[in-house]
Amino acid sequence: MNAFEREPDDVLAELAALREADAPTHGGRVLSYVYDSGLAELDELAARAARLVQPVNGLDPTTFTSVAAMEAGVVGFARRVFHGDAAGQGSAEVVGSVTSGGTESCLLAVKTARDAWRSAHPGDVRMPRLVAPTTVHAAFHKAAHYFGLALDLVPVSAETGAPEVPDVVARLDDDVALVVMSAPSYPFATLDPVGEVAAATAEHAIALHVDACIGGFALAFQDGLPQWDFRVPGVTSLSADLHKYGYAPKGVSVLLQRGRDRQRRQYFATTAWPGYPVVNPTMAGSKPAGPLAAAWAIVQVLGEDGFAELTARATTATATLREAIDGIEGLAVVGEPVGPLLAVRADESAPADRRVDPHHWADAARGAGWHLQLQPGMAQADGPALPHTTHLTVTPVTDHVVGELVPALVAAADTVRGTPAVDGGALVAGLTAQLPGGAQALAAASAGLDSDTAARLLAAFGLLGGDGAGGALPDRMAPVLALVEALPGPLTERLLVELLARVVEPRD
Ligand SMILES: *Cc1c(COP(=O)(O)O)cnc(C)c1O
Repeated sequence: MNAFEREPDDVLAELAALREADAPTHGGRVLSYVYDSGLAELDELAARAARLVQPVNGLDPTTFTSVAAMEAGVVGFARRVFHGDAAGQGSAEVVGSVTSGGTESCLLAVKTARDAWRSAHPGDVRMPRLVAPTTVHAAFHKAAHYFGLALDLVPVSAETGAPEVPDVVARLDDDVALVVMSAPSYPFATLDPVGEVAAATAEHAIALHVDACIGGFALAFQDGLPQWDFRVPGVTSLSADLHKYGYAPKGVSVLLQRGRDRQRRQYFATTAWPGYPVVNPTMAGSKPAGPLAAAWAIVQVLGEDGFAELTARATTATATLREAIDGIEGLAVVGEPVGPLLAVRADESAPADRRVDPHHWADAARGAGWHLQLQPGMAQADGPALPHTTHLTVTPVTDHVVGELVPALVAAADTVRGTPAVDGGALVAGLTAQLPGGAQALAAASAGLDSDTAARLLAAFGLLGGDGAGGALPDRMAPVLALVEALPGPLTERLLVELLARVVEPRD
């Protein structure tokens, strides 16, 4: 082959150089997004398994029968650990699909429930409702938006992060297509009251999805929790991500459904075109088999004992971190976190000059090479405002580095103790004063922005270069989150769309 424009080795060297600038995916320094088992041999196994199926098209498990075998293996493992195998035969059988990730699992759970609701309510023109606590993952906002459901959010307690069961039950009516509970929630690691809510949804024959995307494959190996999986009779579907605590590379999750007939509504099928019959349980057509193969291999190699051991490591590290954070003056862990994640807020009971703002804290920790995730505070309709927090996702590898992490967290708190949270309102006022047109321009902007105006606003906020070039994240995220908290939601969303779109635009 003489037509290569560049040497493959040079191209790979360029990619390796680009990767140098990424946040570190291994070693436990990034406490969100990545789930490091700490076992290099698992990563190697995943890579080899993915490589073996690289040319396969996961679209058709009858042509590529390895896909069917691996999917059955992964779904079988998930069904076992989430106690769906004891659910019974026939109409009660728990069946499932492997999807491309948590969002797809959640989207498909909502689509299935909507279609089941429609078929149970022929001629009903109402928009079906999706009822969930405000802590439900944003994937359900997306699902409601994509599939035409009204999202009915139930407030949670600012102390516990959990909804009150009567507040959920009060919303159940015959227009509710689905209730979602998290096990646990991403923002605060709350295990929602699955059992109590399921008793009510079952009575009204309303579907109940348990979103165990983040924690499912860890919680399944943790003792002493209230039941939250298919042992609870009213649970109709459950999602859990293998690319989180299943330690697989990104692109693999499972969606389990109670009952074959329910699950068949997840499928899309058509023969109404001149090509091959299209029959898909998931959103994509042609799809990779690599993430599935990696997850399958990991599940085979680890088995339940391996998962239990890795969960124990993450749990130990979480307990150590929790104790350490409880001991830091001015910070407090939110509620009663369940599983290997937690959120941290300012301790309101401490005097103001001893309080630690969790966002300044995260920025200080980042300066020392530890990436924690800032979460905005927000108002809740019919409920208390939720504090702004910093999120930590703890993985087995954290256990190896917790001896370095704890002193870094203590030192970060010492650096920022007493520094008040960034005043988002003042920040917005200051920035708008500099804008041509001032506050009016901002108000007008809220009504609808074109791309160039959005880019100019971002540049004024210091988030985009003047040439419209998006760069790396700023050194300090606290002011950015303060803007997110202070600006009107639709404006922030539009600005973030612009930022993300510009970041990936080609620029030569
Ligand atoms: C991560 C997550 C999701 C969405 O998963 P993706 O894999 O990021 O698409 C859904 N629910 C919860 C609770 C999660 O943590």
